[in-house]
Amino acid sequence: METAEIRRRWLAFFEGKGHQVVPSASLIFDDPNLLFVGAGMVPFAKYFAGQESAPWKRATSVQKCVRTGDIDEVGKTSRHLTFFQMNGNFSFGDYFKADAIAFAWELMTTSQEQGGYGLDQDRLWATVYLDDDEAAELWLKHSGIPAERIVRRGMADNFWSMGVPGPCGPCSEIFYDRGPEYGQEGGPAVDEDRYMEIWNLVFMQNLRGEGISKDDYEILGDLPAKSVDTGMGLERMASVLQGVDNIYEIDEVYPVLAKAAELTGRQYGSSSAHDAAHSHPDDVLLRIVADHIRASLMLIGDGVTPGNEGRGYVLRRMLRRAVRSMVLLGFDQPALPHLFPVAMDRMKASYPQLESGFSRISQIAYAEEEAFQRTLASGTTMLDTAVAKAKARALTPGVQAVLGGDQAFALHDTYGFPIELTLEMAAEQGIQVDEDGFRRLMKEQRDRAKADARSKKSAHGDTSVYRSVADSIGHAVEFTGYQETDSEAKVAGVLVNGVSVASAQAGDEIELVLDRTPFYAEGGGQLADAGQITLVNGAIVQVRDVQSPIKGLVVHRAVVVAGEVVLGEQVQALVDLDRRRAISRAHTATHMVHKAIREALGDTATQAGSENAPGRFRFDFNASAALPLSVLSDVEARVNAVLIEDLQVRAEVMTQDEARASGAMALFGEKYGDAVRVVSVGDWARELCGGTHAQSSGQLGLVKLLGEASIGSGVRRVEALVGTDAYDFLAREHAVIGQLTETLKVRPEELPERIAGILGKLKDAEREINAMRQQQVLAGSSSLASGAGDVFGVSFVGHDAGQGVSADDLRGLALDLRSRLGNDRPSVVAVAGVAKDRPVVIIATNDIARQWGLRAGQLAKVAAVTLGGGGGGKDDLAQGGGADVTKVGEALAKVEHAVGELVTAGH
Ligand code: ATP
Ligand code: MG
Repeated sequence: METAEIRRRWLAFFEGKGHQVVPSASLIFDDPNLLFVGAGMVPFAKYFAGQESAPWKRATSVQKCVRTGDIDEVGKTSRHLTFFQMNGNFSFGDYFKADAIAFAWELMTTSQEQGGYGLDQDRLWATVYLDDDEAAELWLKHSGIPAERIVRRGMADNFWSMGVPGPCGPCSEIFYDRGPEYGQEGGPAVDEDRYMEIWNLVFMQNLRGEGISKDDYEILGDLPAKSVDTGMGLERMASVLQGVDNIYEIDEVYPVLAKAAELTGRQYGSSSAHDAAHSHPDDVLLRIVADHIRASLMLIGDGVTPGNEGRGYVLRRMLRRAVRSMVLLGFDQPALPHLFPVAMDRMKASYPQLESGFSRISQIAYAEEEAFQRTLASGTTMLDTAVAKAKARALTPGVQAVLGGDQAFALHDTYGFPIELTLEMAAEQGIQVDEDGFRRLMKEQRDRAKADARSKKSAHGDTSVYRSVADSIGHAVEFTGYQETDSEAKVAGVLVNGVSVASAQAGDEIELVLDRTPFYAEGGGQLADAGQITLVNGAIVQVRDVQSPIKGLVVHRAVVVAGEVVLGEQVQALVDLDRRRAISRAHTATHMVHKAIREALGDTATQAGSENAPGRFRFDFNASAALPLSVLSDVEARVNAVLIEDLQVRAEVMTQDEARASGAMALFGEKYGDAVRVVSVGDWARELCGGTHAQSSGQLGLVKLLGEASIGSGVRRVEALVGTDAYDFLAREHAVIGQLTETLKVRPEELPERIAGILGKLKDAEREINAMRQQQVLAGSSSLASGAGDVFGVSFVGHDAGQGVSADDLRGLALDLRSRLGNDRPSVVAVAGVAKDRPVVIIATNDIARQWGLRAGQLAKVAAVTLGGGGGGKDDLAQGGGADVTKVGEALAKVEHAVGELVTAGH
């Protein structure tokens, strides 16, 4: 039975039992604390925890999940994928254990002809929590599983909680016995790969207290309303129903594996047994490739892009591990263009957006592969060298072979090797990595980069204080700023140094929370509002920054200018209108530039980030190559043409489906709830957005793009000015041009040619001046030579050429003088001068002088010591320099003296 059919039957079965069918949430569910959704219940957690009441009594879903914790299991067990789908049925205070067990039994064992999965009853096992007699009895009553296949297990396996105080309860897992060729007899406690867990039923019946670990906490008592959360692994069920050896061989995964085998010329499975424990290493690699490709496809589909932090890092790690696995298997060409289309083709039936967004998705993946392949070979060489050195060191008794943390860091920083990849590669060569050292270096780097950002975003890493303020309000803070910039509100929280206080005085730096506010909190690329909040008691607060540290709460970072801020007091909150308007204009302009870039480059040019500030913005987008200047000016012209049309800017709230149908630009399902806000500039640019905007495009006045640059692999950035800032910029440029035309006496369009002409002439003139100066320096040469002195039989010239000479000039003079002095007797020439504000001395000696032991290098050092610098060179010609221009004469005298000393000492 195909995976898509298993999924369809699931939803139909539970819909028939009165469950609301709920679509899968995005893998990056709207929770900043969660890396990825890892279970079907995540989107419903707020209902189970009682934070919100559930809109239905029963629900069912097939949820996309990613479990990064299982990444190392992939390929080695028969049942772990990083991306998988969890089928769930949920009861919110409605049915409990009896129905949950009966439903599961019915669906699993009803024959395939009658719409069920038709599993062989004799292969099914169930586990229950140690003291959950109720569940054990219900299994006996509602299923055909005999008592000896109902097993009791402890807290670690069969008790569930969300890891924090809240609902918890025993669970009951269903296992399928795949048969003796997959492992030992004895049930799930003996072999979890032969007896494979397919479905977990969680019975939420207790309230959990604080605890010290996942399976050690206090149970506070019973819940008033009991709930059910179940999770069945869709792919695991598919592996059973398709009769394959493992989860990588099912219809949604195997074609990618087969393609990888074909590319690398491997015979998949020919050297492996049925059970995963006896697999050939090449087969494990092929499974890793298949899993990671599929998971990467799903992640990019949900808006993740490769990066060095958080979600982006997980994606990068998987893509790079897949690429390297292909290289290990002998395929060093770009592999993803062969594999991604296969994965997309398998998944598009359930997720059509993968097909419509494929050019964007694949471009991101292929760019990552290209980037990695550029550094993979050199990084591998560096790693091999470092490993060899570590091994050589380990030949000394007592020394362990360890790869240094600094080397792992360099591999990460310079070659883009995720640490896990380095660990894996080092382990393959039998050595360890100083992971602590690596993490320390990473942390230092991160701390440096983030010190600034952190202080701005959330004054306190701990959000619990914000949570308690949010709880005391009891509802999300209403944002009134779409309609007005001046609102009445009430002080709902005052924090000083991260602690809730009842009041604050003039001079205090505070974080102020209101029950409603017109102040826009930084978000969606738009900077925060600033402004003033006046209390009815006369106190005045200046707002500098506005952030939303947790969902539904707005915090004004502010200073109390006068009076006393008191909890509960009424206020008038007034946004700085000029700043707001300038930011709003920038935000509208960003949408327009986004649209115009897409018109020029196609829909793959999706947004990758933005910042909307007063009068200026930057916009980042995905593109594989630089934007040609001509395209940039076309985009600018297009945007400015639309400004003049003065299109109305509207914001509407609609469902995601309506938004998609209206052609709005967004990564759907990325981070938006069911209802979304769509901002349209006329009918032209339409985009999901929570920000504030100009009322019509005409208000923008003018948009000036400043340029375009790369900010990382596959991402480009344009920066631009809007409104009066754009005008001021152009006016300044115009004034500069005016000054230039005035000075050069040409028309503006003649400026480039004229300036090029002037620069050319300047170069010629410099060349002439150099030649003349050299002639001048040399002009005195003959009289200097004839005036040479005698130092104990050595002809000596010591000459100060003064300022404005170059070292080259001096060298030319020294050589000229030496040849004038001839080779009949020993001669030493020392010429000095000041080149570019620094003293220089050149020493030249002839052959006889050198036979007499007079070496130029040594004499140059003597001069340099006096000048306060260094010197050296060959025996016949050398140079010394320093810093003290007043010591040139003294230095020459020292050289002369040294010549005397050396000659008398040598004879
Ligand atoms: P296991 O012990 O086999 O890793 P689990 O206890 O982690 O499983 P649950 O957290 O109970 O699994 O998840 C519910 C269901 O989701 C499981 O019964 C299984 O069918 C499926 N599942 C869990 N992890 C994976 C995975 N990495 N790949 C595929 N399916 C999975
Ligand atoms: Mg697990």
